[in-house]
Amino acid sequence: MTADLAIKALSNPSLVHIFGDTTLEFPSTSEYAERYRLFHPEAIFQIARNDDQNFYDVCDDIGPPARMMRWCCSMFKTGPITRIINSLYGSEQILTFYGIRKSESVSRSKYNRIEDSADAVKIKQQTVASPIFFWKDIEIWLYILAEGIDFNNAYRLGYDRVGCWCCPNNNIRAQFLSRIYMPEKAKAWRSFLLDFASRIGKLDPEVYVDTGKWKARQGGNGLPSANDVKIRFTNCTAEDHAKIYRLVRSFDDELVGMFTPFGRVAPELGKKLLKEVIVLDSRTNVPILSLQPFFQDGYDYAVKVRTMNVADHDDLQRMVGYQIRKFNACRKCLKCESICRAGAISISSAGYYIDPDKCVHCKACMKAKYLDGGCTMDKYLRTK
Ligand code: SF4
Ligand code: SF4
Ligand code: SF4
Repeated sequence: MTADLAIKALSNPSLVHIFGDTTLEFPSTSEYAERYRLFHPEAIFQIARNDDQNFYDVCDDIGPPARMMRWCCSMFKTGPITRIINSLYGSEQILTFYGIRKSESVSRSKYNRIEDSADAVKIKQQTVASPIFFWKDIEIWLYILAEGIDFNNAYRLGYDRVGCWCCPNNNIRAQFLSRIYMPEKAKAWRSFLLDFASRIGKLDPEVYVDTGKWKARQGGNGLPSANDVKIRFTNCTAEDHAKIYRLVRSFDDELVGMFTPFGRVAPELGKKLLKEVIVLDSRTNVPILSLQPFFQDGYDYAVKVRTMNVADHDDLQRMVGYQIRKFNACRKCLKCESICRAGAISISSAGYYIDPDKCVHCKACMKAKYLDGGCTMDKYLRTK
């Protein structure tokens, strides 16, 4: 319906339509998308889908999504859509239309009808317009029926909102309908949740799953992966402003590249025997960081990071900690790609890469305002 309004308002049937296929869609959603593509041949139709990750595998590792921990939205929806937008428009600012409505949820009620603040939009180069933001259900249906617009068949089955079939935000009615209309998927999901509940030490897994307590889960209690987000360091006794950070794997080029947002990464300026790398401040070209692979009792792998020529060493070490956390805990949720307006960050099976030729050193990927703790996994895997 939003597409219909945008096409009519702009008198342009050739707008770009992006179907974010989370891999958790109702069968009727994919059928509807296909019908839309067939009956709107002038529309530029793209499918955004993350085939590099498997939803169940990630659930095994970091736990199923919960109401306050919807990691899959970034990994399977916003991230793949960002990639399509980047491939079409690079770092240009674009106007997108969303079909969200104020009355849908408490969190949505706090959005604005037109949103372009970097703090609020999920994909940074977007200005988001939501033309039906204030519309009520009855108004939506009157418009759809009066204009004869096709719609997702899931509404005919009784769903009042159509998203992912196993979303922790789904209400009891949607869960009930899914047990009827997709019994195999619903059964497999319940069985996964029961197994997960046992693994994290719940004494009564059936109650935990069937009363919906799993949806209120917070953090990574009981998960081995929670170990990756804790930043462990010791202060170097031999040098001022130097910390030795535990790494979960050995010092490598991926770790060094994580320091690109600070400025120019210059291995040639470091002491070769120590494999030291120097980082020059992006504005002043003065050395501000020294990185060095290190051996530390109690850590299998470690890096020593020394800060220099700055007024606030603690602030710089805080941001260093954020990058160490990314290196140790990244689960490729793609949030970093969505945050970077310059399109400098790419995350693939080869790892986390920041293109030094594209990075404009805005440091958005290291600001708590956009990425608390430097990595979403801090929130999803933190333990009490
Ligand atoms: S809608 Fe729900 S299940 Fe789907 S990606 Fe978002 S949080 Fe995950
Ligand atoms: S967000 Fe800013 S600092 Fe981070 S990689 Fe992108 S351009 Fe560089
Ligand atoms: S570093 Fe963290 S926030 Fe960034 S993509 Fe990886 S998991 Fe997501």
